[in-house]
Amino acid sequence: MIGAGHAGLAASRVLGDRSIDHVVLERGEVANSWRHERWNSLRLLTPNWQSRLPGHAYGGPDPDGYMTAGEVAGFITNYAALSNAPVRTGTAVTSLTRDGDGYRLLTSGGEIDARTVVIASGACNLPHVPALRAALPASIAQFTTFDYRKPDDLPDGGVMVVGPSATGLQLAAEIHHSGRPVTISVGEHVRLPRVYRGRDVLWWMDRSGVWNQRYDEIDDLTRARRLPSPQLVGTPERTTLDLNALGSMGVQIVGRLSTVRDGRALLSGSLRNMFALADLKMERLLDTFDEWAAAHPREADGPAPERFEPTRVPQSSPLQLDLRDGRIRSVVWATGYRPDYRWLDVPVLDEKGHLRHDGGVVDSPGLYALGLPVLRRRKSTFIHGIEDDARDVIDHLAGYLAAAQRA
Ligand SMILES: Cc1cc2nc3c(=O)[nH]c(=O)nc-3n(C[C@H](O)[C@H](O)[C@H](O)COP(=O)(O)OP(=O)(O)OC[C@H]3O[C@@H](n4cnc5c(N)ncnc54)[C@H](O)[C@@H]3O)c2cc1C
Repeated sequence: MIGAGHAGLAASRVLGDRSIDHVVLERGEVANSWRHERWNSLRLLTPNWQSRLPGHAYGGPDPDGYMTAGEVAGFITNYAALSNAPVRTGTAVTSLTRDGDGYRLLTSGGEIDARTVVIASGACNLPHVPALRAALPASIAQFTTFDYRKPDDLPDGGVMVVGPSATGLQLAAEIHHSGRPVTISVGEHVRLPRVYRGRDVLWWMDRSGVWNQRYDEIDDLTRARRLPSPQLVGTPERTTLDLNALGSMGVQIVGRLSTVRDGRALLSGSLRNMFALADLKMERLLDTFDEWAAAHPREADGPAPERFEPTRVPQSSPLQLDLRDGRIRSVVWATGYRPDYRWLDVPVLDEKGHLRHDGGVVDSPGLYALGLPVLRRRKSTFIHGIEDDARDVIDHLAGYLAAAQRA
């Protein structure tokens, strides 16, 4: 097993339950990404009642609250201890190659041979930043979500946040509250209210079955795997953080950053269409919830269906921003994440650098993956989504080992 995040530890638990001998190799500490790769104010956008792993679930006093990154690290570390997971921390895998019927791993702690390998090294190891970052004037300080920790890390003055998903909206709001003028550049996004008909919107995702939809039932799987994270934030007040909320605060909303030329950011003018599309998709999802509620009146016994104000299109939105006039001093790239497979020497990556796999069964015998977007279900990358995937993938792995033994 490569990686001791929640995915690797969940799979380790399932392997342990089946008495399959294994080791979990972790380059840093258990729950390393939650300890070292998140900004200070981050809270989960999934409620505590949803923090569950095979054989373990949140049992604290605030099931409707949202954990801080430190609390998530504690939750996962506790899980590793409770599961007696055979973790070797401080052990980075530097190479994985096919060797005979199995695999050879070179690690910072020596060589290991394995019949099978599960890659649970995470989908968000590196920031995904567009190449146009290189065209920004040198006077602009640039940050990714890996180097941003808090607003005071930024120079004084205006900030452009690029990216309208959960990360971008959360950072835009907190930087705005620090007193810096914020502009957010908006491309495709997924809009959701925090609360729908009196319940957390993720309760609806869970109960209505949307999150359980299987990868082999999704029409456009490639697109589903690329979808940005929903515009949500976890606050004690269960605040909805969407573009209307940002606009009301005074954050300037501009179109997608398409290129940078001669020190000017050129922005797409299609805000109206983009907003209409996100609003339409949200309405369709709410329709799905309502249909489910109508069929399950006892479970969904709360308030009647509701609809939300469409995303307001700003009265004037510039198509260019001069990045040399001193008004914008820094840019925060909230443009997504990508995995890091520089250590992987088995030819299983496609031309875009994604693992070739079918529901976590990688395109090389005995090699598996967990924790990737819509790996086997829509919920695959979320903490509560790992259990079903881990059981399915380890089932396949156990079958593979048994067949190899028979042969
Ligand atoms: C900003 C952000 C917010 C999120 N919020 C939520 C949320 O609210 N709710 C939710 O359910 N999910 C959330 N997620 C999604 C998901 O839960 C996290 O991405 C989670 O960290 C994924 O767990 P993982 O075990 O797949 O990967 P990781 O937590 O990244 O764990 C992978 C581990 O593998 C190790 N590793 C990597 N490469 C190597 C190597 N070569 N050798 C040895 N070890 C290696 C890493 O050090 C790491 O510890 C969020 C993700 C991000 C990025």
